[in-house]
Amino acid sequence: MNDAPDCLHCGVCCFSDLETYVRVTGEDWTRLGPDADRAAHFIGHRAYLKMVDGHCASLELRPATGEFFCTIYERRPQTCRDLGRGTPECAGELAAKSARPAAALAHAKAQPSVTPPGHSQALRAALQM
Ligand code: SF4
Ligand code: SF4
Repeated sequence: MNDAPDCLHCGVCCFSDLETYVRVTGEDWTRLGPDADRAAHFIGHRAYLKMVDGHCASLELRPATGEFFCTIYERRPQTCRDLGRGTPECAGELAAKSARPAAALAHAKAQPSVTPPGHSQALRAALQM
């Protein structure tokens, strides 16, 4: 499928309501390095990427530019690496969830004071100092 959108302006495959959407293996955890605790957590005996507001918590929505930016791109789990743009899996994601990113972006635009997920905790901590 050569007409797949530019991933930076798509983000569809980073959206899910499942808390167990992206499994994080031991190898993934090691690759995440210092980002592991921020990006992933354990549910039972297995680790998964953290999810927030219906998408991966490491996905930064940028309303000003309409971008969906993976903040851990270089260290993302193997599951994310395996989902190639333009593959049948990509097409399946687009067919199932294509409306979600635009809705999330519109919501983010309506709440300009909301900080990206990865920064909100640090900001809260800073404000309490
Ligand atoms: S891989 Fe496909 S579904 Fe995922 S962001 Fe890229 S174009 Fe969108
Ligand atoms: S790690 Fe990056 S590519 Fe994988 S689901 Fe999260 S934001 Fe998307």
